Amino acid sequence: MQFMHLYLLFKFFKMKTINDFDFNNKRALIRVDFNVPLNANFEVTDATRINSAKPTIIKILEDGGSCVLMSHLGRPKGVQDEFSLKHIISKIESVLGVEVKFANDCVGKEAEEKAGALQPGEILLLENLRFHDKEKQGDVQFAEQLSKLGDIYVNDAFGTAHRAHASTTIVAKFFPQSKCFGHLLAKEIESIDKVLNNSEKPVLAVLGGAKVSSKITVIENILDKVEHLIIGGGMTFTFIKAQGGNIGDSICEDDKMDLALDILKQAESKGVKIHLPVDVIAADAFNNEANIQVCDVYHIPDGWQGLDAGPRSLANFDAVVNECRTILWNGPLGVFEMDTFSKGTISLGDSIANSTKNGAFSLVGGGDSVAAVKQFGFDNKVSYVSTGGGAMLESLEGKTLPGIAAILD
Ligand code: AMP
Repeated sequence: MQFMHLYLLFKFFKMKTINDFDFNNKRALIRVDFNVPLNANFEVTDATRINSAKPTIIKILEDGGSCVLMSHLGRPKGVQDEFSLKHIISKIESVLGVEVKFANDCVGKEAEEKAGALQPGEILLLENLRFHDKEKQGDVQFAEQLSKLGDIYVNDAFGTAHRAHASTTIVAKFFPQSKCFGHLLAKEIESIDKVLNNSEKPVLAVLGGAKVSSKITVIENILDKVEHLIIGGGMTFTFIKAQGGNIGDSICEDDKMDLALDILKQAESKGVKIHLPVDVIAADAFNNEANIQVCDVYHIPDGWQGLDAGPRSLANFDAVVNECRTILWNGPLGVFEMDTFSKGTISLGDSIANSTKNGAFSLVGGGDSVAAVKQFGFDNKVSYVSTGGGAMLESLEGKTLPGIAAILD
């Protein structure tokens, strides 16, 4: 089933969220995404994901329920102490203001006893789900063991909704009448719906980043949904070279040039206006101290590479952004990690923030664009910043996310 069809389903069968349940005296088994970054001292360096899950947890506790939290952390190979969720207990306690109990394994006797002993208002955190290979394998018996730990299953982990793992998808079948989305996941679904299916027009997608190959399916799906498409970042040069431009030493996927021409043709036939950079900041080396010059995008000298959008491009993009009522942004306009080549991404962020202030709906999602909006302080100036990288991209590609389908089944 296509993701879009799932959205249509929402309209007929209102999607169930935690607001549809009274958790009084109930134990919620919540799949959260607490895959947070830790430093060498095992301290949480960015608690965004914990903060994002807070409204769901607090609503359940305030109803008079208790919470069993399950998550993965990193990519452990079997049981590895460095990936233990015990490292983040104190951070969760300080974010929620509630004591957090801990089970040393996510399934088995100890977890069942500690979950069974939970009183209303209490929280139990389970050890890393991925200490068991069966989690990623989507093992049914493992999912059944998890299901014993709660009365109602709540999925609030958009970051893993594209995985058919035991805790994200399979476990839902053990809660046929008592499964729902948490606030965070519901908000993610609504935001994507607002861009792809219920958008105020004109709609603009900005796709940047390094490679055409990683965004092809997104571009093809999005062409049916938007009036304008800005293509920026390293992807630009495959399009420009395919049209006969001289791109110097800029990054290019030669084997994707035919595809780039096909995308331009498809866009034309669908009435989508494509906006490519007209000028770039070209550098004589891939580093922050390189010599730079502004070049016409079709005439980049050999030995020079385009690493950011130029001033004329940014003025064009600003005009398009201001004209649109719905904006999706995925991927930076340049090598934003280096100060010298961050101006394009910052300028685009300013344009989107401004348009949002004037009433447009803006969604930022997928990988590096989220890092960029946070780095430059735009996260509070756009309508919504998605918490899912891969999940967001797969949604934009029009794919069914198994974690979402499992709740709707
Ligand atoms: P993606 O993960 O596909 O969104 O790509 C993000 C990466 O693209 C960032 O690390 C940027 O540094 C990189 N990038 C953006 N523009 C360029 C460019 N013109 N040349 C090389 N890399 C770029």
